[in-house]
Amino acid sequence: MNYLQYYPVDVVNGEGTRCTLFVAGCTHQCRGCYNQKSWSFDAGIPFDQAMEEQIIRDLQDTRIRRQGLSLSGGDPLHPRNVKCLLPLVKRIKAECQDKDIWCWTGYRLAELNTEQREMLAYIDVLIDGKFIQEQANPALAWRGSENQIIYRFTS
Ligand code: SF4
Repeated sequence: MNYLQYYPVDVVNGEGTRCTLFVAGCTHQCRGCYNQKSWSFDAGIPFDQAMEEQIIRDLQDTRIRRQGLSLSGGDPLHPRNVKCLLPLVKRIKAECQDKDIWCWTGYRLAELNTEQREMLAYIDVLIDGKFIQEQANPALAWRGSENQIIYRFTS
């Protein structure tokens, strides 16, 4: 898996102060996509062990307390990305137990396959669905268009 950007401190992609990882690769081709550069799986740079260690370190950093990790893209739930992200989210829940994980995907919750659904056990907040330009609403929090749904799996 490649990623486009990593923000060690982020206050706009989810609630609280967070770490945010923008992964590469998306096949939804939404009209009006905010970041078409993220569609290619070859964009950005490889997600390696050093990056994984940095995320864990940042989440455990007590000087700047993060509420959790946000996964955006691209599409973190594309099957190619799930292979790499599943070990990461498992590790976060094991080693950073008070941190939440938010995830944005262009898939609808109901259409996720078995492998994609494995991620749900570790995700606290899922924002699903493609961006639909005709339903775009800049006043919405955490989502771009009215069709997208915010699922809070934990309180
Ligand atoms: S799902 Fe997101 S990244 Fe993918 S095309 Fe749609 S808006 Fe762009």
